[in-house]
Amino acid sequence: MQKKTVYDIGLKGERVLMRADFNVPLKDGKITDDSRIRAALPTIGYILEQGASIILMSHLGRPKGEVQPEYSLKPVAERLSELLGQEVKMAPDSIGPEVRELAQSLEPGDVLLLENTRFHAGEKANDPEYAKQLAELGTVYVNDAFGTAHRAHASTVGVTEYLPAVAGFLIEKEIQFLGQATGEPERPYMVILGGAKISDKIGVIEAMINQADRILIGGGMANTFLKAKGLEMGESLVEDDVLDEARHLLDTASGKLELPTDAVIADAFANDANVRVVPVEGVPSGWRILDIGPETIAHYKELLQEARTIAWNGPMGVFEMPTFAEGTFSIARMLADLDATVIVGGGDSASAVREAGVADEIDHVSTGGGASLEYLEGKTLPGIAALDDK
Ligand code: ADP
Ligand code: MG
Repeated sequence: MQKKTVYDIGLKGERVLMRADFNVPLKDGKITDDSRIRAALPTIGYILEQGASIILMSHLGRPKGEVQPEYSLKPVAERLSELLGQEVKMAPDSIGPEVRELAQSLEPGDVLLLENTRFHAGEKANDPEYAKQLAELGTVYVNDAFGTAHRAHASTVGVTEYLPAVAGFLIEKEIQFLGQATGEPERPYMVILGGAKISDKIGVIEAMINQADRILIGGGMANTFLKAKGLEMGESLVEDDVLDEARHLLDTASGKLELPTDAVIADAFANDANVRVVPVEGVPSGWRILDIGPETIAHYKELLQEARTIAWNGPMGVFEMPTFAEGTFSIARMLADLDATVIVGGGDSASAVREAGVADEIDHVSTGGGASLEYLEGKTLPGIAALDDK
């Protein structure tokens, strides 16, 4: 990796300003899933061991640039304190004289968490004045928030103007794995693409047509491709406004694109709907495709056996409903058993492999939804580009 990491700089006695991704799901003020907090522990632990203090910052939810108490990071401070087994001081704001005083009073080994950066409009606007005030709190900047690396905000990009800026372990791991797929993947390199829409992912599909040896399509986006080939899709999710684009992608893909041959269809968008398995040529009016069928699953599995590198983005069906989860879960289970290097990107795809219970057996499940897609597309992520080169 050509970006500096926490290993490349001395941290002893420094006050480390660290951007983490603590954008955790909350229900009634309680954290329902603390995996993002846990994910930050290795970098936090390393920094503390080096004899530095840490000032952590993150956004949480969408408070639209103003103070909204329900988006306070206080619950995160409490949980982090339990996980670290030490006090985590909670700052009343992310900038201002009181916060500056708190930061300056930190001793090596101390941890301070700033209040939600998005309580200030300057965060998303990447306002230099707000960024400068954040930067003044620390002596070194560490970014470990891959999920926001595709956004040029004050806490991800602005601060790097004022401080030495390096990557934490999470970002390092993301770049290592995603870079493997976009750089020189061991071939055959196969990509599984699904999810709801083509329009969300045209850039990724185009990039994959260039890079991958095979692209297996599933999920809602398959419907639009199938309709572009002239098939009737009934009530299925179809994006009529990108049919021409879909036709064009099919033409340029020169046989690399694989489409489902059968599907699980339902007479309503509901888990307890009437369900049938049909060839994709046989979707009756009033019915909709909600998962790939068994023949498609078997065919995709056979193809994937040959792969050396696999990137997966987008569920194969509406996996949130158990009746339509088989396509997604059986692909997930298969990926867990393969020797190939497997990378999963995308928020819903990551949830799907976790729900299938195989996340630990997959080489890399990206923590960034949009960020991992942009990386796979070959775009430069501003939050990473802004870090110091080795
Ligand atoms: P990711 O977050 O991994 O990038 P997307 O957000 O693109 O994935 O897509 C996930 C969504 O796609 C899921 O909510 C799933 O229900 C939906 N989906 C998958 N297959 C279908 C389908 N056949 N019809 C409608 N929605 C689908
Ligand atoms: Mg999604």
